[in-house]
Amino acid sequence: MWRRKNSGKQPRWPYLAAMTDKVTDAIRRLAGDRATIRMEGGRTGVVLDATGLSATARSDLETAVRAAATDAGASDVRVVVTAERTRRQLVAVASGKGGVGKSTLSANLAIALSRAGRRVGLVDADIYGPSQPRLMKVEGTRPTAKDKVLDPVPTPYGVPLLSMGQLVDADRALAWRGPMAAGALGQLVEADWGATDTLVLDLPPGTGDVQLTMVQKYKPAGAVIVSTPQDLALIDAMRAIDLFDKAGIPVIGLVENMAGYACPHCGEVSDPFGSGGAEAAATRLGIPFLGRIPLTIAIRTASDAGEPPAAGNGPDAAAFHDIAAQVDAWLKER
Ligand code: ADP
Repeated sequence: MWRRKNSGKQPRWPYLAAMTDKVTDAIRRLAGDRATIRMEGGRTGVVLDATGLSATARSDLETAVRAAATDAGASDVRVVVTAERTRRQLVAVASGKGGVGKSTLSANLAIALSRAGRRVGLVDADIYGPSQPRLMKVEGTRPTAKDKVLDPVPTPYGVPLLSMGQLVDADRALAWRGPMAAGALGQLVEADWGATDTLVLDLPPGTGDVQLTMVQKYKPAGAVIVSTPQDLALIDAMRAIDLFDKAGIPVIGLVENMAGYACPHCGEVSDPFGSGGAEAAATRLGIPFLGRIPLTIAIRTASDAGEPPAAGNGPDAAAFHDIAAQVDAWLKER
């Protein structure tokens, strides 16, 4: 019977077999199942699956694998890094004017989406009042950069953040208009978001050029519009809806913030800004109404303390989680 002299699996020389095992073990210790190893003709080829790793982690792993294989005796080491492209969905949070709670909603929506199982990042593009570093309890922490690509700042809530407020002082950010602001905002979105699959984008309030440029350039999957119940705010909200229509971005729905005031002493709920206006406007405009967040002192004090209600179990957490569940379901349909 014809038999191959060397079946190919076992190297011909014992010392070669020992070296092969040593190299394979060294690579596996570092990269586990991520590595596919092929040793042939004195050459060691390693394909590393870097899916889900940040650019920094990816290049660190590549360097470490190369060094370990060489230390273990391999002479001609070639490492190829591959990664599945992460499908990332952007959710823009917008309002027609400032002070309606857009940043508060963005922070809580990001945390609630993350608790719902998404890998969420938060971009604070609000040049007029970048408040996310305070809301997310990372005030004063600046992001690092590698090859001019920013590394998002981790927050205590599992949602990494990049904010205009981390790049420049708030009063200087205000002076940034037009192309300069658009350039800086681009750096935030095009940062090293690694395995993040959902990016919540806290847009500057209003419906000017900066907002339109961002929306056209980054094409969010959808937009959440925040409004207070006042007529005036709703007119502004309609302008925001118009902006997304123009850019061909679907509106996920409208959130009514500061709806009804619950007196902290007697519990009586009053409606300083009227009630039901936002829901009626949403119906009129044919967009979904995602829910209302009450005006409570607890929301303001928790936000000021860098403890977003959605991260806790307080009475206001449920409203944010309910809105996030609808946004999550909407995104899954895309
Ligand atoms: P915007 O981003 O639209 O300018 P913010 O989210 O910064 O608005 O909110 C403005 C102020 O209103 C902040 O002090 C915030 O804590 C407070 N605020 C927002 N929503 C509520 C709410 N539902 N109840 C109480 N205070 C709120």
